[in-house]
Amino acid sequence: MNLDILLTSPATTWVAGAAFVYGRYALLAGLAFWWCYRRGGRITLTKIQSAPPRKARIWEELRESAVTALVFATFGLGLKWLTDAGHTAIYSDVFQHPWWYLICSFLLLVIIHDTYFYFLHRWFHASSWWRKIHAVHHRSHNPTPFAALAFHPLEAVLEVAIIPLVVLWLPVHPIVLLAFASFSLFWNIYGHLGYELIPFWVFRSRIGRYLNSSTHHNLHHADGRHNFGLYFNYWDRWLGTNSESYLKKVSS
Ligand SMILES: [Zn+2]
Ligand SMILES: [Zn+2]
Repeated sequence: MNLDILLTSPATTWVAGAAFVYGRYALLAGLAFWWCYRRGGRITLTKIQSAPPRKARIWEELRESAVTALVFATFGLGLKWLTDAGHTAIYSDVFQHPWWYLICSFLLLVIIHDTYFYFLHRWFHASSWWRKIHAVHHRSHNPTPFAALAFHPLEAVLEVAIIPLVVLWLPVHPIVLLAFASFSLFWNIYGHLGYELIPFWVFRSRIGRYLNSSTHHNLHHADGRHNFGLYFNYWDRWLGTNSESYLKKVSS
């Protein structure tokens, strides 16, 4: 058997991509879980919901996230094919654009994804059919870091679908894509931590009030009718979808 063909085959790339996505998730979520839930008794952290998470649900979160890793790897492979065929604006020479463009393109990806997520998420909750799909993620009423990628496969597809559309026209270096995917995972783990790490005075400040918090998303899991944002809080503020209990926490 020709080892080169095996190593460069689409199936190998797909499996390696899924293993990378799942490995990165398991490592970061595992470290966050250990730090908060195992050491949490000995360090000062605010548990958002006092009850401990259910062990059986954690195993489900791990299983559902494995399917999400396969979905994300499929998108990665599709993106590679599109790029090799010259259909995307992804560029490989890091010096093709000025260094500051790397930062700008990263911020643009974050802002576009945040806006897309907010409206997609509201739609999930507004439509009875899609609410059933999104209900898989909401089985975690008291989420742990392992809920970060615990979605129904169709939801996983929609969560990531915006990125290939954006890179059809937005020039992005692969390093920026990797940084964005890692940041998104990192933020999702923070949002599902079950503990608040950032003091509330930050969210009362002029800039901090437009940032989301772990408490914000945790209350969304507990209530399901408010707090739809991902990284930022401006859509929830502008469209009045922050919960009263959250506004009370960040205003007192
Ligand atoms: Zn969630
Ligand atoms: Zn939701």
